[in-house]
Amino acid sequence: MKLYNTLTRKKEEFKPIKKTVGLYTCGLTVYNYAHIGNLKTYIFEDILKRVLLYNGYKVNHVMNITDVGHLTSDEDTGEDKMDLAVKREHKTPEQIADFYTKEFLRDLKLLNIIPPDKTPKATEHIKDMINLIKKIEKNGYTYIGKNKNVYFDTSKVKDYGKLAKLKLNKQKTKEKDSNKKNQRDFVLWFSETGSKFKDHLQVWDSPWGKGWPGWHIECSAMSMKYLGDQFDIHCGGEDHIPVHHTNEIAQSEAATGKQWVKYWLHGAFLVLKGKMSKSKGNFIRLQDLIGEGYSPMDYRYFVLTAQYRSTLKFTKEGLDSAKNSLESLKNKIKEIKENPISKKTKNNYKKEFLNAINDDLNIPIALSILWTAIKDNQLGNKEKLTLVKDFDKVLGLNLTEFKKETISKEIEELIQKREKARKEKDFKSADKIRNELNKKGIILEDSQNGVNWKKK
Ligand code: AMP
Ligand code: ZN
Repeated sequence: MKLYNTLTRKKEEFKPIKKTVGLYTCGLTVYNYAHIGNLKTYIFEDILKRVLLYNGYKVNHVMNITDVGHLTSDEDTGEDKMDLAVKREHKTPEQIADFYTKEFLRDLKLLNIIPPDKTPKATEHIKDMINLIKKIEKNGYTYIGKNKNVYFDTSKVKDYGKLAKLKLNKQKTKEKDSNKKNQRDFVLWFSETGSKFKDHLQVWDSPWGKGWPGWHIECSAMSMKYLGDQFDIHCGGEDHIPVHHTNEIAQSEAATGKQWVKYWLHGAFLVLKGKMSKSKGNFIRLQDLIGEGYSPMDYRYFVLTAQYRSTLKFTKEGLDSAKNSLESLKNKIKEIKENPISKKTKNNYKKEFLNAINDDLNIPIALSILWTAIKDNQLGNKEKLTLVKDFDKVLGLNLTEFKKETISKEIEELIQKREKARKEKDFKSADKIRNELNKKGIILEDSQNGVNWKKK
């Protein structure tokens, strides 16, 4: 199985550290709903997990819930996202986090995303973060600013910025912070006393006084707590490469003195006439799409039409086309399911599918293999259905589940009456009833296993 590792900028053969793969995915900042861009990233991560499972690996998947410390800039500038939500909604941070966490997990479920094994909340791991900062401090990587914040000293790390291949001398920062020795240094612990954030409600005691953690430290602390000091895969959207993940690596390796994560995978952005951002207010939710008549699976299929490292432009035309493709795919599968005739012929579909998904999760190719198999006249329906069920373990599109369509008692009786006429070779009456049903919008299809009906 080959995966593109952002750290080396190469597709690498995946070799897990231990039997069970440790997978950490950065979760949502729960100060608002997830937008469909966020959800693209969670679909990519779900595909990654499903491909690992398909290859026979056991996976221990941890996804954090960010309910403290994330500023609007991802760096140490801008406003605190939770403070913004408190002002906007006049609720406590806990109420806000609770509400949006539930909404987020509901979206994931609707999109058929396998739930992580653990979803730890940042606010429930403050002690772990404090202990990690203490380790980093003991190893000599921190300093205290005039404002009493604890900063990470990036000049102490030889390979700082290795993930993003940052050109450190050319870096520019948005706001100059006179507390920092180096503008690329970052906050590990915000101190309440020197804080520029007024009315900040989330504070805890610490060896450095009352305050709250910086954003990056939570992912290092929680991933190490649940997956160990070294683990296999860490993922997120591509925006996290230069700041969040860069800083996570610096502080984690400063604490342990060894390589932290082996493979870094990043999903490209979903764009919507420019960058979608919650803080700018131009974002679309899954529920908006549902309200317009699309199903969550239409959106999942839309996302799967692009490889995860390609930027995906969101358009209604694109979503419509995904919806139509999924509908015709499911109609074909329904026909196959209703006529399970077996015709065994040699084919390479499973092997081709495995090659595609193991080539850095090439789902667009995997989908085209599924389509070719479905249309293959040499292949029996029974064999096709087995392939569909197998491939759907990775695609997660619920391809063999159909909404039960119901018919009235009157129609049911007419269908039975026609069956009786047919058996008695009274074809005139049978045809008459078929026409009558057709007028009522019911199409009959005779098969070896009896009659099937569908709505027009
Ligand atoms: P956040 O709540 O900002 O931490 O974002 C949650 C996840 O969504 C992270 O993995 C981000 O990298 C990802 N993300 C944010 N915006 C987009 C976007 N427009 N397209 C794809 N992924 C995104
Ligand atoms: Zn993170």
